[in-house]
Amino acid sequence: MPNLIRPHDVRGLTAGEIQRTRRELRASLALVRPDSPARVPILSLMSAIDTELAERRALDREQMIYLCSCGFGTDDQDWFEDHAGSAGPGRGCPAR
Ligand SMILES: [Zn+2]
Repeated sequence: MPNLIRPHDVRGLTAGEIQRTRRELRASLALVRPDSPARVPILSLMSAIDTELAERRALDREQMIYLCSCGFGTDDQDWFEDHAGSAGPGRGCPAR
């Protein structure tokens, strides 16, 4: 019997593997009676996958690159807003 308490390691999965695992878990869940104890490990793994997906989305946001139509680009949101919100020399946008 596998140790169901151990935290599920889903970090090593690719995005495709995660989506497929999630689909398979949902399918398994549909086959299990609502009062069955078999739901517990399935729900636990689904929760681990949801957490991992949320963390990956947060990471994607951190790694976002802001691009201006003038060709200026930065990963610093404050810098970008500074650029897009003001014209003139320095950090301002030359296209404005
Ligand atoms: Zn610009």
